[in-house]
Amino acid sequence: MRWSQMYIPTLREDQSDAELVSHQLLLRGGYIRKLASGIYIYLPLMQRVIHKFSNIVREEMNYAGALEIGMSVLCPAELWQESGRYNTVGNEQMRMKDRHQHEMVLCGTHEETVTTLIRGEIKSYRQLPLNLYQIQVKFRDEIRPRFGLMRGREFLMKDAYSFDATEKSFMESYQKMVDAYFRIFKRAGLDVVKVESDSGAMGGKAAHEFMLLVDTNGGEEIIFFCDKCDYTANVEKAEFKIEDSSSDEELKVTEKVDTPGAATIEEVTAFLKVEAKQLAKTLLYMADNKPVVAMVRGDRELNLIKLQNATEAIEIEMATPEQVQNFTSSPVGFAGPVGLKDVGIYVDPLVADMKNMIVGANEFEKHILNVNIDRDFKATKVVDLTSAQNEDQCPRCNYGKLNSKKGIEVGNTFMLGTKYSEALDAKYLDAEGKEHPIIMGSYGIGITRTPQSALERYHDDKGIIWPKNIAPFLVHLIPLNVKKDSHIETADRIYKELNEVGIDVLYDDRNDRAGVKFNDADLIGLPVRITIGDKSLKEGKVELKARSESDFILVDIDNIVIAVKQLLGRVN
Ligand code: ATP
Ligand code: MG
Repeated sequence: MRWSQMYIPTLREDQSDAELVSHQLLLRGGYIRKLASGIYIYLPLMQRVIHKFSNIVREEMNYAGALEIGMSVLCPAELWQESGRYNTVGNEQMRMKDRHQHEMVLCGTHEETVTTLIRGEIKSYRQLPLNLYQIQVKFRDEIRPRFGLMRGREFLMKDAYSFDATEKSFMESYQKMVDAYFRIFKRAGLDVVKVESDSGAMGGKAAHEFMLLVDTNGGEEIIFFCDKCDYTANVEKAEFKIEDSSSDEELKVTEKVDTPGAATIEEVTAFLKVEAKQLAKTLLYMADNKPVVAMVRGDRELNLIKLQNATEAIEIEMATPEQVQNFTSSPVGFAGPVGLKDVGIYVDPLVADMKNMIVGANEFEKHILNVNIDRDFKATKVVDLTSAQNEDQCPRCNYGKLNSKKGIEVGNTFMLGTKYSEALDAKYLDAEGKEHPIIMGSYGIGITRTPQSALERYHDDKGIIWPKNIAPFLVHLIPLNVKKDSHIETADRIYKELNEVGIDVLYDDRNDRAGVKFNDADLIGLPVRITIGDKSLKEGKVELKARSESDFILVDIDNIVIAVKQLLGRVN
């Protein structure tokens, strides 16, 4: 493809609405443009990246035995009502009426649609297992669309759905997808890690996420690794071995004390001259509009997902200062469990083990000393609510220490069990003619998020460095002076030879200064650059350079195809 016939509107200036380097590079490199919040237009270069990545995904899914179908982004609302998710997806789902006043929804995922298809088609265990997938548009009215294609409202996803008769067969189907995922990301030049994750709103019993580790701000997820065994989990899910903190300290008499000017843990510990460990934080949340408090030890952080799971709430939000005042009769900073009425009290085991703890008194600038569970307040439930942190002990091997890294979720796999097949009545008959719900799994990959994620990892201060298998073109061909016949003749010849062997080339045929062309080449980030200039041309050579390396080599024009192949074989 010739640059003059492409549409690559590169921008010199940093764009003010892009916080992440990857987002910045996609805008500046002329890959995407924003239409509205979370809605992007994929320009020709981006579309090529999407095709390259989709093709890898498609090939590996096909190889794993999955079958490609296409499902509409629109779906009748009844199906979501039947599955029960109509009331649980919240405002993420866009809804509308068609001209017949029939309520429709835009799918953010397709369990309902695919299960409805299956229930009409699959009758017998002989028709199973089956895995259906698509590469399609999803729509989610995300609360905070941001970071360009990382979290859009409209985006592309590969979603696959497996259907099995037995648990054993399901585990094989699941493993096939996991294996396919590792092959997909490897081919895309990305080494990902598989981590245990919360199965959340999808239901089901277990789930994994595939994370690309990055050390930039793009890493929205925190992942814990055990330094001795293979335990890996994201922060939402990560557990840790609870140290034995029970003591036979005597229970003392409670005492209300003044804590003027001290509301935060730091202020209270400084004022009372105690350690954070002796305090329990009492945090008020609204779980489906009902107040609940979570109690975690003063030196630890609350894990909101664990609280959500413990309360079984669909939506959970931190209480507003007004709500705190209403339910605890005091401003923020002084909440405590003693005397709280009509509020569920969820207590972390580390707090349940505490003796003579210090808590807020539900009065402005007052705390209570020597509070004890069961004697002074009752827990609705004692349940793990604490986020893991570095240096915690591994819950799996009970031996190693946990360490965290930042990552981006590029894909995930869910064991759905029979949640959807039961709700939507997708059953099969076994060999004895007995009816059972089909066992399901679902598997997503972000088709637009993944390539942008790659850029968080692969860039330098000049621009993008695409992994070769998802680059829009493999070679950037630059004749330095398009007015010179010798440059154009050589460029035309190389262009033709490379295209003939299936190496796609972007041919910068613009009548522009070398500096402009080099800057654009570095910015858009194609893996290999060939430069044609007078000096080397005299010796029948051209310059060959990898985007990821700083030095170029001189190559005989006659050997260019083989040299490009060799270079491509060497780079990521
Ligand atoms: P997240 O936790 O990041 O919101 P999710 O758990 O909602 O992701 P899934 O519903 O399982 O994600 O979607 C499967 C894949 O689709 C994700 O792994 C991610 O790569 C991609 N994806 C999800 N939401 C978005 C979005 N808003 N924009 C772009 N890609 C997305
Ligand atoms: Mg999400």
